[in-house]
Amino acid sequence: MRKKLHSPDVVIVGAGVAGLTAALAAADAGGAVLVRATGIDSSNSWAAQGGVAAAVGPDDDPALHAADTLAAGRGLCRESAVELLTEEAPDRIGDLVRLGVEFDHGLAREGGHSHSRVVHAGGAETGRRIAEVLVARVREHPNVGIERERVDSLSQLSGHSVVLATGGYAALWQRTTNPRGAVGDGLLLAHAAGAELADLELVQFHPTALRDDGFLLSEALRGAGATLLDEDGERFTDELAPRDVVARAIAARQSASLDLRGIERDRYPSLMATLERAGYDPADEPIPVSPAAHYAIGGVATDLDGRTTVPGLYAAGECACTGVHGANRLASNSLLECLVFGRRAGVAALDGPALVSDASPIPGSADAGAALWEDAGLIRNAAGLTRLLDSPSPLARLVARGALARTESRGVHFREDYPVEDPALAAHFVFAPGAEPRLERWS
Ligand SMILES: Cc1cc2nc3c(=O)[nH]c(=O)nc-3n(C[C@H](O)[C@H](O)[C@H](O)COP(=O)(O)OP(=O)(O)OC[C@H]3O[C@@H](n4cnc5c(N)ncnc54)[C@H](O)[C@@H]3O)c2cc1C
Repeated sequence: MRKKLHSPDVVIVGAGVAGLTAALAAADAGGAVLVRATGIDSSNSWAAQGGVAAAVGPDDDPALHAADTLAAGRGLCRESAVELLTEEAPDRIGDLVRLGVEFDHGLAREGGHSHSRVVHAGGAETGRRIAEVLVARVREHPNVGIERERVDSLSQLSGHSVVLATGGYAALWQRTTNPRGAVGDGLLLAHAAGAELADLELVQFHPTALRDDGFLLSEALRGAGATLLDEDGERFTDELAPRDVVARAIAARQSASLDLRGIERDRYPSLMATLERAGYDPADEPIPVSPAAHYAIGGVATDLDGRTTVPGLYAAGECACTGVHGANRLASNSLLECLVFGRRAGVAALDGPALVSDASPIPGSADAGAALWEDAGLIRNAAGLTRLLDSPSPLARLVARGALARTESRGVHFREDYPVEDPALAAHFVFAPGAEPRLERWS
């Protein structure tokens, strides 16, 4: 007999920034139980370095933040979601300050942003600093329980409703910046319960991961003046162009390195220490980098309050797909997404219908890393994607189906056999269980 995880009100699966935020929102108005598979320090949230985007600077405005987000999203952003994200951003930063997060002085500028608007903490320890404070507030909250268990079936949970906040699926790829657990459990849980998924083919590759092991060299370093050099030591791209552009510029070269010699390195003590432990001297030599799978734009299809297509089931953060990022996520918009949509999902889940689910357990993740890297990496074509349809990983097969259906190149999705955007495909591929992906326009 499977053990049931009990909650009087809302069960939240996942303890990254989205799950912690949803738990606090639900607990303030009722009660919540937070279930997590891994230690609190093993999540994408904990690993996040750069910061959180918000129009809090004197010359900035949410409308400018929205315009940058829409430009990066290449015609695919859900405009209502972008408006909400950028308008709520300053208030959510205010919430974090009230909860005890101490942000560094000054705002950083990152690729694709027209203004300096990235708040950061501890140099490049923003995610960790935010997560630590949120965990402390959750632990001391009288209305939240915390349990540790990998959830593999929604019928294992008993509560009024469930918020999935299990993070993304970029760790399915062989080269990744993500911790191991980011394999898309939440998407499979939702799909098994009948929920629709969307935009699965859209996965962002970060341009500058350490070539040896995928350790992320944050965008903030390029914002601070670090340059990209080719094998001859020459600059070859605009370091602040959108990530997909920079990543493909690197992939087109035999090798690339990030030159940190001209920047204020002591602003990033933990990053520099990691590089030194890996055997590099950033004061003396450019650091070899190459792209790695970084952020899952696709996820469980939701509305702006985290509602999935299954009553009583909600999703927020990287496991969800509101359409806010379009076809390319703007740097530092994803922690923000966790704060904005995590809170909204936590509140909505308290008041919404109850979840009734007898879904069967999801499989453990099959090893599809090399095949995904080879066949659904930075540069894709029909032959590789068709091969991937035979993958043992159900999520890899869904990614392949979406990427085959998207016969164009847009944002993070680059097809060498369809190298330009097709205006007819400026819409989202939605995956209902057992059906072919269908195209939908979201407003
Ligand atoms: C190296 C790195 C740097 C980044 N830097 C930035 C940045 O500077 N700014 C920015 O905006 N974004 C950044 N991102 C992206 C951002 O960190 C993530 O999109 C965001 O943190 C996702 O948060 P989340 O709460 O949705 O999921 P996560 O933080 O990944 O948390 C997922 C949680 O779900 C739990 N879980 C998973 N499966 C199960 C299961 N089956 N049962 C129970 N629990 C489960 C895990 O244990 C974990 O607690 C970065 C990402 C990485 C990897």
